[in-house]
Amino acid sequence: MDNTTPVMLRLISCAVRIASSAGEVVRNITNSGNLNVVDKGVQDFQTEADRTAQRLIVASLGRKFPKCTIVGEETLAEDKAADERLFVDDYDQDILKMKIPDEYRHIKEEDVTIWVDPLDGTSEYVRLRQVSQITTLIGFSIAGRSIAGVIHQPFYPNSQDANSLGRTIWGLVGLGCYGIEAKSPEANKFIITTTSSHGNKIIDDCVKSLSPDEIMKVGGAGNKVLYIMEGKVHAYVFPSHGSKRWDTGAPEAILKSLGGCLTDVFGNPIEYDSKIGNYDNFLGVVAALDPKIHSRIIENIPTDCKNHLVEYYKAKF
Ligand code: AMP
Ligand code: MG
Ligand code: MG
Repeated sequence: MDNTTPVMLRLISCAVRIASSAGEVVRNITNSGNLNVVDKGVQDFQTEADRTAQRLIVASLGRKFPKCTIVGEETLAEDKAADERLFVDDYDQDILKMKIPDEYRHIKEEDVTIWVDPLDGTSEYVRLRQVSQITTLIGFSIAGRSIAGVIHQPFYPNSQDANSLGRTIWGLVGLGCYGIEAKSPEANKFIITTTSSHGNKIIDDCVKSLSPDEIMKVGGAGNKVLYIMEGKVHAYVFPSHGSKRWDTGAPEAILKSLGGCLTDVFGNPIEYDSKIGNYDNFLGVVAALDPKIHSRIIENIPTDCKNHLVEYYKAKF
């Protein structure tokens, strides 16, 4: 690699390797059985795996790209010795050689905000040890829009094997998606995925009102977008506050790199601005690979449900 390699390619190539190392840390901690769980709120947990994976990601990207803004889910105390120990200095060489779309050629480090969810799907991980549902998410936004992302599945293909290398998927809008072959879902069915651990009656009523043939309740925003890409479901519908920008950043960019959409329930793009301070996706999440299915869902989400989200949003600000 030389200094002329565009920043976005260097960032993604580094993040792909870092996410994979974070996955190794997650597997080792999981296999040790010592999760050391901290309760952050209602159905909101943090484990040793969340903490160590975030430290590894933030220390490594932060040292190599000091002018980027990094927003991580977990609040961690400073620990320079641990940062040093966990530092990953590696690039995916194939990504460095790719031809970046012209619009990103001159992006500077200071233009980029990095959104880190070190372990998405912690509820399922803590309560049920459903390791196949957890992912490590690193998203990149420029001027408020999510444009690139990495999703790493530490336990793929669904094994607790400490020697497993997991699976890494990444995408850049305009360049494409790598690490997965996206499949279309069954054409004559309509399957929706939604939350399994942050549900309520409003979400249930809304999802049922869309008349799906099947509803798959699974954990994690990353995992649900993987369900879309794997053709297991047509859409991810979460008409509620609660998910955060670090949950949607990487999945949104990867879905968009395949021609799909991830927006709020009004069909508006999610704003990835590190300065807003509150990173809640108050107006919910609707995602699909097929833009026509996405628009149809946006049109059909009941007005009552949309209004409820707006009222909640107004009450909070
Ligand atoms: P889920 O679909 O429930 O797995 O949620 C996707 C992501 O959003 C996970 O990172 C959850 O922790 C987060 N999330 C969703 N709803 C809430 C909530 N009410 N409180 C805290 N986190 C939430
Ligand atoms: Mg998460
Ligand atoms: Mg998390």
